[in-house]
Amino acid sequence: MEHKVFIGLGSNLENPRAQVLQAIHELNILSQVRVVQCSALYRSAPVGYLDQPDFINAVAELSTTLAPRALLDALLALEHRCGRKREFLNSPRTLDLDVLLYDDLQHHEHGLTVPHPQMHLRAFVLQPLLEIAPNCEIPGIGNVAEMAAKCAGQDLERLGNGAK
Ligand code: AMP
Repeated sequence: MEHKVFIGLGSNLENPRAQVLQAIHELNILSQVRVVQCSALYRSAPVGYLDQPDFINAVAELSTTLAPRALLDALLALEHRCGRKREFLNSPRTLDLDVLLYDDLQHHEHGLTVPHPQMHLRAFVLQPLLEIAPNCEIPGIGNVAEMAAKCAGQDLERLGNGAK
């Protein structure tokens, strides 16, 4: 069965724009995964640990037959292939991939929470998501457009359609 999934992508090291575009390409050639559509690229200011470069972000819609855990494992393996190191919380990264939404699933297990627990607080997730899924709802939270309006003060810039 095909599942509708939204993935958040972010990078702020080693040519972030190229990292995100390459990741979208790699997602599309993963087994049992198809990229349906992608947002434009966005630039965002770092959150949490501020002494690091700005991020490039995008959101992609996938169609996949993978179960949530198998999908996350495939994404973590892709992060790893892209040279990701986890140094400390909110540290710079060559590639960060998050499962934002998986159908209308609400699920929590060790190492996997869907919807992504911070997605409704982050303009760099909500604005690109809104662009490709204007009527999207976050199960248990609410409407993406309403959440995005609450995050309007965050430092975010749309860079154009580089990811399309
Ligand atoms: P970070 O790299 O800071 O985004 O954290 C990655 C870790 O968060 C992974 O090891 C996952 O096990 C865990 N995690 C929990 N829920 C999610 C999710 N919805 N998407 C991606 N990672 C998740």
